[in-house]
Amino acid sequence: MTSFRCRRCGACCRWPGCVRISGSEADGIAAFLGIPVREFVDRYTRLSPDRQFLSLLEKNDGSCQWLSEEVPPACLIEPVKPRQCRDFPEKWNFPGWEKLCGGIRGESK
Ligand code: SF4
Ligand code: SF4
Repeated sequence: MTSFRCRRCGACCRWPGCVRISGSEADGIAAFLGIPVREFVDRYTRLSPDRQFLSLLEKNDGSCQWLSEEVPPACLIEPVKPRQCRDFPEKWNFPGWEKLCGGIRGESK
């Protein structure tokens, strides 16, 4: 079995592409931000290209708008970040992800 240790480099938050959120995740993020869910959806999400789900908005460079500019980088909605973010890379990933991710992979008992 392999193990993975995230080094919190923030690279995965800078990759362009959708960050899918469910309805309950939208509720949770809105509550965390202290705003109505309708306002959160209008201001901070977009419809995916296939119009099947909501995605977090990106900055102009393609990075997630909730990625802080601090060093080290941090997720500004960490306690309520979407499952897509929490599951990467152990529960979902894509071909070639190892070349982009600075995490440490190894064998666990
Ligand atoms: S929500 Fe947080 S963890 Fe997910 S991509 Fe954005 S900054 Fe990264
Ligand atoms: S790219 Fe890999 S090491 Fe960097 S924050 Fe994302 S999961 Fe962690």
